Parts: sequence; C-alpha cells; structure tokens
Amino acid sequence: MINRVREITRIGVFTSGGDSPGMNAAIRAAVRTAIYKGKKVTGIYHGYQGMIDNSMFDMDSPSVSSIIQQGGTILKTARCMEFKTVEGRAKAYENVKAAGIDALVAIGGDGTFTGAEIFSREYDIPMMCIPGTIDNDLNGTDLTIGYDTANNTVIEAIDKIRDTAASHNRLFFVEVMGRDSGCIALNAGIAGGAEAILLPEKDTAIEELIDMLSQGADSNKSSMIVIVAEGDKNGGATDVAKRVKEKFDNFDTKVSILGHLQRGGSPSSADRVLATRMGYYAVNELLKGNSRATVGIRGSEIVTTPLEEALSKKELKLNEDLVEIAKIMAI
Ligand code: ADP
Repeated sequence: MINRVREITRIGVFTSGGDSPGMNAAIRAAVRTAIYKGKKVTGIYHGYQGMIDNSMFDMDSPSVSSIIQQGGTILKTARCMEFKTVEGRAKAYENVKAAGIDALVAIGGDGTFTGAEIFSREYDIPMMCIPGTIDNDLNGTDLTIGYDTANNTVIEAIDKIRDTAASHNRLFFVEVMGRDSGCIALNAGIAGGAEAILLPEKDTAIEELIDMLSQGADSNKSSMIVIVAEGDKNGGATDVAKRVKEKFDNFDTKVSILGHLQRGGSPSSADRVLATRMGYYAVNELLKGNSRATVGIRGSEIVTTPLEEALSKKELKLNEDLVEIAKIMAI
C-alpha cells in the first residue's frame, strides 16, 4: 500500500476485460461516492481502449440512474492489446492527463489488475481495482462481483434441464463456465443436485465418473445430471459424454453447453450489495491515499490487498468440504 494523501479532484472509472453482472452497480457506487465527496468523475468507455482512443465523458449522479438492476456494463468493456505496449500506455496517459483525471477506479479481472499495476507504477497515478468476474478466481477476495448471479443463472438452467431429464430417463452433461476455476460448477452443482461434478482443479478419471453414475443408475434414478466445468481435464461436456454414453444404455444421453448466458442477466441482490460496497470503498480508499490495490471481501468485511500481492499468488478458492459434500449428496 502506498500511503500518500494527495489532492484528487477528478476520478476516472472504467470496466475492462470480461463483463459480469453487477459491474453497473459498482460503477454507480463509485460515481455517487465520488460526487458525494465533492469530486468530479469521468467515465471511460471500453476499458483501456477508451483511454487510448480518448473515449471519455463527464459523469454526474443521473448518469448512473436506473442501472443497478442492469446486467453488463454501461461503460462497455474491451480487451485492448495496445495497452500492453509502452507506446499504448503512453498514449493512454496523455489522454488521462489531458482530461484532468488524477485517480482511477478499474473494474475487471486479473488482466485488468495487471494493466492497472503497471500503469499506476509507470505514471504514478493512484488506482484502485474492483474484482468483477463471474469465475470467482481472483486473489484478495472471497467473492467477485457477478459470481452469485452466475450461480443463480446456472441453477435455474439445471432445474429446467432436470424437469425434462426426469421425464425421459435422460443423462445430461451440462457444461458451465470456468476455464481454471471450478467455483461455479461446484456451487451450482450442489444447489442443482448434480449426480457428479467435474472440476479443473481435480483430476476425475472417466472410470471414477462411470462408477459414480453407475451408483445412481443402480439406485433407480430417473435422471442424472453431470456438471462439467469447461476447463476440466477430460475435455468439455461433449467429449465427456462421448466417453461415458455407451455404459448407460438405459439413459438417453444429452449435452447442454450453457455458454455466455451465464455472463448476463440482472444482478442478484447479493451482487448488487457487494458491488455497491466495493465501489464505495474503492473511492474512499483512493481519497485516503491508498493506491495500487484491489478491494475485496473477507467474511463480511471489505478489505484491500496490494495489487502486487494479489497478482503474485494463486489462492485456492475451491472449498474441499463442498467437494466432499457434493459426493455424498449424489448417492
Ligand atoms: P480480465 O480483466 O477479465 O482478466 P483480460 O485478461 O482480457 O481480462 O485483461 C483486460 C485488459 O487488461 C487487456 O485487454 C489489456 O488491455 C489489459 N492487460 C492485461 N494484461 C496486461 C499487461 N501485462 N500489461 C498491460 N495491460 C494488460
């Protein structure tokens, strides 16, 4: 943490990288807190790309009216390769300086955090990050904005799949997002009563999966649902289904890949409140002189972690108790 209180008159706010439900609530909270504290606010479109292209606008309190319930991000988001270059960041800084921005709030994932760490160090500009991603795979926080909503979206889909699966004796393989993180698969799998859950963090052999499903078939289950995180080492749901299918002749095997619908939708109450707390906290921390850090939640408390620390390790988010519980609940 850099403790250095310097006068901040205008705060720039942007969203970057993958979008997640609740980003709007975080934007709203940051903007309104800054205005309440007598600061000016600039909204930056398309993340780092908007800094380079000088795509910015003045924000006031009405700019963020009626957005708390909207998914996506009103500031748009982008992946910007140019920002990874020294020249790109120099261009971005020129525009940021010309706009009178003297501190930044970035909402995004670990790529966004990496960019923030470099930019804020290179140009000595105060920055605070807010974790926005459905994957819940960021350090410095127990929960990321969008994770709760994505879980709710997935269980709604699983419940619907269960209705049709049970009517036809079907074995369903449902693929959910999570290239490196099994958090959504595990939580939604438990909440949706999945018969098996395949996670990127665990090596589940196909034979083990077949054993688990055989148990279900032997106990006369009328439907079985396997949740496959997209990053599972056996491949996606389609690959896994192909390898398991012939062992379960009594079941009609189907695959459903939920895809990008998991990123959308109106944020849950939990995500709206989390995002609001984090947006408020990010601005207050900047005004207190904190910088180059990410906001997070630990238990019920909002905390900050220096970006350098947050980016240097990989916290294991998968709860081993839940892995065990999921197995027991599937018998
Ligand atoms: P997320 O923030 O969701 O992880 P990305 O990994 O795409 O999404 O990162 C978002 C943006 O952050 C990138 O498009 C790029 O502009 C910036 N960024 C990522 N890594 C770096 C880096 N090493 N240096 C500078 N900027 C970076």
